[in-house]
Amino acid sequence: MKNKRNRIKLKKVYKEIMIATAIFFMLIECIYILCRYVMVVNRNTEEAETYGESIATNIRLSMEHNISISSVMKSLYLEYEEGFLHDFDKICGRLSEDDNSISGMYFAPEGVIEYAYPEGNKELAIGFDILSDPVQSGQGQLAINTGNVTIAGPLNLVEGGVGIVIRNPVFIENEFIGFAIVVLNYDRFFYNILKDVSSGTYHYKYAVWNESDSNVLTDRYGFLLNCGNTDVDRNVDIRINLPNAVWHLAVEPVKGWNIWGRLIPEFCISLIFLCVVLYLIYLKLRKNTEVLNLIQCDELTGIYTKQVFYHNAKQIIDKNPNSKYTIVVADIENFKMVNNIYGENKGDYVLKYLAGVFRNSIGDGELCGRLGGDQFVFLLQAKYENGPIWMKSVIDEIHNTSPVPGIMVKFGIYQLIDRTLSIAAMTDRALLAVKSIKRNYDKVYEHYDGPVSKKHYRIQMFESNFERAIQNEEFVVWYQPKYDATSERIVGAEALVRWITKDGEFISPGEFIPTFEEDGLIVRLDEYVFRKVCETVRSRMDENKIIYPVSINLSRASLFHEGTVEKYRKIAEDTGVPPEYIPIELTESAALHSVEIKELTQKLKEAGFQLHMDDFGSGLSSLASFNILPFDVVKLDKTLIDFIGDASGDELLKHTISLAHFKKMKVVAEGVETREQLDFLKKFACDVIQGYYFSKPRPYREFVEFIDEYGEGE
Ligand code: C2E
Ligand code: MG
Ligand code: MG
Repeated sequence: MKNKRNRIKLKKVYKEIMIATAIFFMLIECIYILCRYVMVVNRNTEEAETYGESIATNIRLSMEHNISISSVMKSLYLEYEEGFLHDFDKICGRLSEDDNSISGMYFAPEGVIEYAYPEGNKELAIGFDILSDPVQSGQGQLAINTGNVTIAGPLNLVEGGVGIVIRNPVFIENEFIGFAIVVLNYDRFFYNILKDVSSGTYHYKYAVWNESDSNVLTDRYGFLLNCGNTDVDRNVDIRINLPNAVWHLAVEPVKGWNIWGRLIPEFCISLIFLCVVLYLIYLKLRKNTEVLNLIQCDELTGIYTKQVFYHNAKQIIDKNPNSKYTIVVADIENFKMVNNIYGENKGDYVLKYLAGVFRNSIGDGELCGRLGGDQFVFLLQAKYENGPIWMKSVIDEIHNTSPVPGIMVKFGIYQLIDRTLSIAAMTDRALLAVKSIKRNYDKVYEHYDGPVSKKHYRIQMFESNFERAIQNEEFVVWYQPKYDATSERIVGAEALVRWITKDGEFISPGEFIPTFEEDGLIVRLDEYVFRKVCETVRSRMDENKIIYPVSINLSRASLFHEGTVEKYRKIAEDTGVPPEYIPIELTESAALHSVEIKELTQKLKEAGFQLHMDDFGSGLSSLASFNILPFDVVKLDKTLIDFIGDASGDELLKHTISLAHFKKMKVVAEGVETREQLDFLKKFACDVIQGYYFSKPRPYREFVEFIDEYGEGE
């Protein structure tokens, strides 16, 4: 239920990521379109300006040409006066024959038109008094005043049509004589210009207007190619300077600036691109969600994995600093049995069932996860006070509904007092608590505080002081002699480590060895002891003193640690101690638990070490171990020796000894404390005796004095 809720949360996060990405892309898109808009406008304007400039140049050139025609008229008048006027039509005909834009030519003595070419309706202009006309008088007066040509229009002509009027004032000795006038047909004038510029293809429309004319010419005279009489946009405004006039030329593409026409396809393409990118992101996120779900949840049970539990629990605790929490660990006491009896498939089914019960037992703001194997972990909120009730309800539920009978759940509880601890450390504490009641059938739960925490502090102390202890040689090797059962003479010893701290505290191996076996530090400790033993044997050899084989204990972790055999062989070689002087004791339980061990023990044998099977008879011993591995000696555990005097115990011991002999193994009896035990063992041909009856383990110096006094070389 919690995991589902988390998946929903995850989906929400992904949805937000998608929305954020979409907004980000849309922003980019807008910026892109804006830039493109500016670029397109600039490019269109530039193109229109180039086109407009070419029209403007043509207008200027054409106008200069027509002004020069009026100048020719003026010169001819000045040269020939009446002669020119007499042949006015003929001369004008000649002057305008190559220029069809000229619609008429006039001569207006003292401003009144008297001569008109060609004849016809141009004659309508005859008698038109320029200087008296309210519209034309200004321009006419300007020409007289400046003595320069004026260009009027485009304007409606008296004789009809729209024209551009070039008036060239004629003076004789500074006295105004009249105007030589050339009138251009507006349409033909621009048609010729456009024809030259556009070579017949018209992509632009244009408008021309006279600056001094407030009327907008596009409305009245705009010569708009191919697109009717619509307004011309004045973005592009080109100034054309003419004598006594300034014209403006506006140019606009026929189809308008068409910016969106260009941009919309681009916009659509980028939109499609955006959608594709978003879809790909969506696919990726969806895949991530699936992967995350897979990682988050334990594959078998569907509840959180250990790491996800730690992470989520931390978040909950941090978010609720005022709430009380407990970390509870549930351990299934006899789960191995379920696997053994019902098979692994059924075992998996039971784990799934248990996960379901646990998941349903917790409330909002609480979590449960699987630590691995048959261990589960909970973060419980208010349950600390009524923890026993909660645990009882879980146990009852399992008792009533379990698919297999006899499932026994035990709980370890760590109440969150130190919130600075990591969830993993809190879980470890709850695990220590549950571990402390393993195989204790009277208890179903245990709190971390009290004896468990004291033990934990001790373990932590061992671990944190280990390095220093090695450096300061706080680990000291003691020796317990071994005696020949018949002659009762020393034949060897066992090296047993002790920890004497710098404060003088004496710690026995039974206390610290299990800790170091669990955390792996035992590998270094065993090697340290082995080296020390080699060195003491070496020093005895150097002093030409009696030497005895000194067995060392090798824990399972050391045996399986890579390179141990080679390393030990090398230490023996470097110190010059023959390996047969350092027999290696392996505990009997270790012997049976692995297939790899065969290879390792074989290697030890090949390196020249003797193998002693330690603690035979303690725990769940198996006679099969006699058969499997190449042991030279079997060491009977004290628990077997303690049976001496009990009829069936005696029988057992008797047969074990003869079985060992049958397998060509020597027998060492450990923990022999009494004469009776010794006599019994002697009677049944036990080979070697080790025990308090002869000697306790002693510090090296004491041991050396002891053997020098009582020992005897072979
Ligand atoms: P172990 O190898 O079985 O060693 C024999 C233990 O029995 C020793 O305990 C020894 O002091 C004790 N013992 C011997 N004779 C008697 C007796 O007559 N009566 C009683 N009550 N006890 C007797 P110790 O020295 O406390 O060592 C305990 C265990 O710690 C050892 O059992 C061994 O498994 C482990 N150990 C000791 N030193 C090392 C070491 O250097 N490396 C490893 N891996 N384990 C070590
Ligand atoms: Mg031993
Ligand atoms: Mg032993």
